[in-house]
Amino acid sequence: MLYSKVSQIGTLLFKRVKTHSKSFSSSRILANAAYSSTLPDLFYNEEQLQMQQALKKIIDNEINPFVDEWEAIDQFPSHEIWKKLGDAGFLGVHKPEAYGGMGLSYKYHAAILEELGTIKGFALPSSIAVHTDVIVPPVAMYGSERLKQEFLVPSITGEYVGCIGASEPGAGSDVANMKTKAVRKGDDLIINGQKVWISNGLKADWALLIANTSEGSPHKNKSLICVPLNLPGVSRVKINKIGLKSADWAQLFFEDVRVPVGNILGKEGDGFKQLMVQFQDERLSFPLYTFKAMDNLISETVNYTRERKAFGKSLLDNQVIQFRLAELVTEIEALRALTYTAVESHSEGKDVTKLASMTKLKCGRLLREVADSCLQYWGGMGYSSETIASRCYRDFRAASIAGGTDEIMLQILVW
Ligand SMILES: Cc1cc2nc3c(=O)[nH]c(=O)nc-3n(C[C@H](O)[C@H](O)[C@H](O)COP(=O)(O)OP(=O)(O)OC[C@H]3O[C@@H](n4cnc5c(N)ncnc54)[C@H](O)[C@@H]3O)c2cc1C
Repeated sequence: MLYSKVSQIGTLLFKRVKTHSKSFSSSRILANAAYSSTLPDLFYNEEQLQMQQALKKIIDNEINPFVDEWEAIDQFPSHEIWKKLGDAGFLGVHKPEAYGGMGLSYKYHAAILEELGTIKGFALPSSIAVHTDVIVPPVAMYGSERLKQEFLVPSITGEYVGCIGASEPGAGSDVANMKTKAVRKGDDLIINGQKVWISNGLKADWALLIANTSEGSPHKNKSLICVPLNLPGVSRVKINKIGLKSADWAQLFFEDVRVPVGNILGKEGDGFKQLMVQFQDERLSFPLYTFKAMDNLISETVNYTRERKAFGKSLLDNQVIQFRLAELVTEIEALRALTYTAVESHSEGKDVTKLASMTKLKCGRLLREVADSCLQYWGGMGYSSETIASRCYRDFRAASIAGGTDEIMLQILVW
């Protein structure tokens, strides 16, 4: 197995607050210094857990020690990270072996996504998941042999960083309203338009672009097109943001960009439908790659409030704080159970559109609650920008907007 290579590859981000051995009988669930869920051990098999351990080694040795530095300079070395993950096989565990994947079920990929949550902060996991869960799957599903060789293989091996170009200044939630056009000229398409808020957009080698390829019904006139981003007519502008500091986020402009008609994925006009199908993977990825980040923030908050004294006792000696943290942990576990149900169904090839939308909705809201409550218990320290509490507060906020807003999830769920 490719992932076994990882064992050969050989600061915690934030200064950890010293953990006290003192235990609190009134708060069993929080009695240990670190909170870690027991559900993954019940859900994943031995091989999946081993893969998580192999990924953790890469994260502990080659990612987490540098995250602080990357956050300070507003970028991380995407190509370097992709290559490490690709070499270990983690960018396509559930993709066919013929294209560089491992040919395993979605559940193996879910195990990988969940381990990505141990990366400090949300910037890298969210950027990686856009690549693995938004742009790789449609090429695997609908791409011609040429497109698979040209875009899928290097995206799984980690040679290429990809991005998804869907949102436009006038079309975010209402994605069908987009204006970008790809007009046929002989055997080519000429692309004109712009895309905004694109994750990985500055450094990506290619974009999976959705554009209008004909006039007519907005749900039947769009196609997904593989567009190399080194072509004449492509330009990119960095967008600044409140969190996810090291993540690359850009506006992309296309001016008479020429690609072969054969770069359309599957049937021309099917793009909107293909994108909607794809969204279930993206939405399910959100809770998966944030569970361990939430667990960690709770643990760090337990550590901090145990250490911090006010009115002659630890903050954690106050039942109101213990109860709030215990309730949040309960909610995280409830979401985990729902998400695992969706993962199991997805692995069996069932349609999980509704379940995935529920998990995305609940995840966005819970991340905000966890980040807000924990920051509150860190007091002034929480508001200073260097702590894990403030980073999570900034980063977690994105999850209710990116990948479809909470309101759009609710729209999918109503009758
Ligand atoms: C961190 C981050 C990463 C992103 N990465 C990408 C990317 O890689 N590629 C990409 O294409 N896009 C990306 N996006 C864009 C994202 O998909 C859009 O921001 C999102 O779909 C919302 O669109 P919008 O910003 O235009 O908001 P709008 O559509 O203008 O909506 C604004 C508000 O109105 C609400 N609203 C809209 N319609 C309704 C309705 N019918 N009923 C009730 N409320 C409604 C929305 O829920 C939202 O709260 C990213 C965004 C973020 C924040």
